Amino acid sequence: MSSPTLADRLALVSGGVADAAREAGRDPAEITTIVVTKFHPAALVRELHGLGVRDFGENRHQEAQAKAAELAELDLCWHFVGQLQSKKAKAARAYASVIHSLDRDSVVDALAAPENDDAATVIDCFVQLNLTDDPGRGGVAGAEFERMTERVLATPGLRLLGVMAVAPLDEQPRHAFARVREYSERMRALAPEARYISAGMSGDFREAILEGATHLRIGSAITGNRPGPG
Ligand SMILES: *Cc1c(COP(=O)(O)O)cnc(C)c1O
Repeated sequence: MSSPTLADRLALVSGGVADAAREAGRDPAEITTIVVTKFHPAALVRELHGLGVRDFGENRHQEAQAKAAELAELDLCWHFVGQLQSKKAKAARAYASVIHSLDRDSVVDALAAPENDDAATVIDCFVQLNLTDDPGRGGVAGAEFERMTERVLATPGLRLLGVMAVAPLDEQPRHAFARVREYSERMRALAPEARYISAGMSGDFREAILEGATHLRIGSAITGNRPGPG
C-alpha cells in the first residue's frame, strides 16, 4: 500500500476532529484547525492552501516572517504560536493575525497599538498558561494568570480571545485540558467575550476537544514528520 498523501492526512485529521466534536456534543464548525508548518517550506503551505486550509501556525519569528512574505498573494491567516521576544513583537504584528503566546508584560506592551492611532489594527491574542512548574516551558504561571489577563484587557490594540496551553508530557492530556477549561472560566469572569481555548496538538486533539478547545494547533499529523529539528 502506498503511504498516505498530504490530502489523506488532512482528511484523516478532519475526520478525527469531527468525530471528537460529535462525541462532545459540539458542532465541528465551531472548531478551527490551525496547521502548524514550522520547519516546512512555503511550498507545503501553498499545497495545503490548495487543499482548502487557510489557518497556519509558526513558532519562530524569522521563519514565519519569511514564509508570510513569500506567500503574500494568498489569503492566509497566520497564527504565531511560539515564544515571542519583545523586540520582535512589532514585526510579528505586521503579518500575524493571531498571537497565541502572550506570557510576558514586555511582549504585551510591545504589541500595544501606538497611542492616539485610531487607525491601528487590532490583533487577536491568547494568554498562554504554563501547566508545568518549569518557567522555561513558556506561558504564565497560574498565579499570574488573572493579572496578565487584566493587563491584556487594559492594552489598546489587543483583542483577547482566550487561553492557550500545551499539555505537559507527564500528565494525562484530558486532565491537563480540564485544568485549562477552569482557567478559561476564570478568564471569562473578567472578560465574557474571551471564550476561546487554543489547545490540542497532533497527539491529543481529541482530549482537547472534549474539554472545550476551539483552536487546535496541529502539525505532524497533517504535515508528516518535520524536516530538521523540531
Ligand atoms: C509544533 C507545535 C504544535 C504542533 O505540534 P504537533 O505535535 O506536530 O502537532 C502545536 N503547538 C505549538 C506551540 C507548537 O510549537
